[in-house]
Amino acid sequence: MGDRFFPNEMPDFVAEGTTVSGGATGDSLSNLLSLPYKTLSEKLKTSALDLKETVVRETWGLRGKRVQDYTLYTGALGTAYLLFKAYQVTKNENDLQSCSDIIKACDSASKDSGRVTFICGRAGVCALGAVIAKHSGDERLQAHYLTKFKQIRFPSDLPNELLYGRAGFLWACSFLNKHIGKDTISTTRMRAVIDEIIKSGKRLAGKGRCPLMYEWHGKKYWGAAHGLAGIVHVLMDMELKPDEVEDVKGTLHYMIKNRFPSGNYPSSEGSESDRLVHWCHGAPGVTLTLVKAAEVLGDKEFLQAAVDAGEVVWKRGLLKRVGICHGISGNTYVFLALYRLTGKVEYLYRAKAFASFLSDRALELISEGKMHGGDRPFSLFEGVGGMAHLFLDMAEPSDASFPAYEI
Ligand SMILES: [Zn+2]
Repeated sequence: MGDRFFPNEMPDFVAEGTTVSGGATGDSLSNLLSLPYKTLSEKLKTSALDLKETVVRETWGLRGKRVQDYTLYTGALGTAYLLFKAYQVTKNENDLQSCSDIIKACDSASKDSGRVTFICGRAGVCALGAVIAKHSGDERLQAHYLTKFKQIRFPSDLPNELLYGRAGFLWACSFLNKHIGKDTISTTRMRAVIDEIIKSGKRLAGKGRCPLMYEWHGKKYWGAAHGLAGIVHVLMDMELKPDEVEDVKGTLHYMIKNRFPSGNYPSSEGSESDRLVHWCHGAPGVTLTLVKAAEVLGDKEFLQAAVDAGEVVWKRGLLKRVGICHGISGNTYVFLALYRLTGKVEYLYRAKAFASFLSDRALELISEGKMHGGDRPFSLFEGVGGMAHLFLDMAEPSDASFPAYEI
């Protein structure tokens, strides 16, 4: 497939109500870019709801309603998360019911799992289960999932990152406290986990120039999935002590100072390979963290760094993959976050441009083998499940949130 990304030949900005050259007369992508936002987002919603049906059929119905991979990342819980999003947009009770059925099957499938996070572990099943039970008005079921959540125990060798580690467990706590109510998971429980994360970050940082450092499988990753960006992103949702806030700021300053000349971010400490522009590794995941830093810590440097990283995503982020983790769908959330932060319509346009590219070309490019449909083509993080989630989020861009990352 050659390069990792398609050259972005779309105009940098098109004001509402203007026709893009090639539009109206022919080229279907230019036509989409010429549409008013509202018209386009309605179109995306319709296609998202069709896609959602396909995802449910492929990952649930055709599998005899049995679950092997229960995770949110590539498995059935991702389908449940998509159904929850669809329910939030349309209030269709059938979606809520299917979501609940899938989570029940995930609950059985994950019973003996030692994984503890939202994206790849038990915490995701129990947390989403409790929230869906609340929406269904089923108090007994909600209590069941909350009890199970509170029974989750950490293995002794637990890492700190988002997909398999402590940060991924803490994110599930934030999700519960947001959707069920403050203190659903107590500050004391969360504080113990924060202390562990800070302690191991300082231990590995030693006397280095970055206040916090982490390792996953022997590598000091920087990205959202396994590294610094993801861990400090979750920490910023917590009640931190003043010195911990300074550690987070110092870590972000260190990353900004040591980014590549292109504006992209290394996937791990010391790496000189400026290749990946993914949520998992590179500028997109870091941008979402910098947006959060600008919102929470209010430092102008973070806003500027977020804007800079967003430019990298615009230039090199039209990936030859469709998904949320390392595909165009995930990268589109960068522009939605920058729009939320700055209120600038230029960013809403860029989100619209990436989503239009997906809507116009993705399925065809995948069928022609010019774009990768993902190893699990219907999953939330690698496949079209993520694209459907994005299209639903385009309906209310100011409420959009990257699945299992932006709270
Ligand atoms: Zn990825």
